[in-house]
Amino acid sequence: MTIPLNTPSVSPAKPRKSLGQHFLIDDNILDRILAASDLNTGDVALEIGPGRGALTRRLVQRAAQVVAVEMDSGLADALPNRLGNPQNLAVVTADARTVDIGSLVDAGVAYKLVANLPYYAANPIIRRFLESGHRPQLMVLMVQLEVAKSMSAAPGKMSLLSVATQFYAVPRLVCEVPPSAFRPVPKVTSAVVRLDLRDRPLVEVADRNAFFDLARAGFSAPRKQLRNSLSHGLGIPEKVGGLLLEAAGIDGRRRAETLALEEWAAVYATWEKEKDGDLIRGMG
Ligand code: SAM
Repeated sequence: MTIPLNTPSVSPAKPRKSLGQHFLIDDNILDRILAASDLNTGDVALEIGPGRGALTRRLVQRAAQVVAVEMDSGLADALPNRLGNPQNLAVVTADARTVDIGSLVDAGVAYKLVANLPYYAANPIIRRFLESGHRPQLMVLMVQLEVAKSMSAAPGKMSLLSVATQFYAVPRLVCEVPPSAFRPVPKVTSAVVRLDLRDRPLVEVADRNAFFDLARAGFSAPRKQLRNSLSHGLGIPEKVGGLLLEAAGIDGRRRAETLALEEWAAVYATWEKEKDGDLIRGMG
């Protein structure tokens, strides 16, 4: 048998399921991601999980600089060579859930985050970049369709991820992506979502961590009425939770998923005002 001269001497390692390795093979979808990213020749692009470089190859052609963060050291080491050692590519071997964002892109430098995310870690990675002090201007992300829907959900179908996403960004579903666009083929349908980061959060809150703690408490039992789930999550008597919601102008029989961001802000403002006051002390 004759072996063609351009056959790589080392075949790519088997995809690692534990790292969510489903590689994109559909050129149309890659084009949709690129188009949604609005990349200009002066832009810095940050890619999470470049894998075998299907997306990275396009990013280095469009952007001034590409920083790619890959947790699989075998893939990270092989990537520059695989793409012909582009001058504008820096590959960092790290876990995107914990990496110091300042070590990837200098403070004050604007950047766009573009990624086909590993689904097992999508939620913490998204939260990390949304909540960072050095947020991207734009995120274009491949995620599970359910996650994309949750990010862009309207009141009635809100989750904690919807609240966090819409607090910081304006989400838009770009397209749905069938399992056949990947190898190996995943079990779920995916979607590309674009998040345009807001200059300032949609609602003003005194302390963001405390605001999200309160929203998390509200979603602690999402099937229950809000007065129950919120009281349970905050560790206060149910009657006090009901009074708190009443003071914020919210019907305590509603469910957490029905509240708009402005309503969460009203509940939080009331909680901040009342938590050390008569309402809580008198009923406790
Ligand atoms: N971008 C490639 C593509 O579209 O074909 C690969 C996408 S694949 C869904 C996800 C990639 O993220 C894999 O290369 C995987 O090794 C990498 N990865 C998994 N967990 C990671 C993490 N915590 N931090 C950074 N990269 C991660």
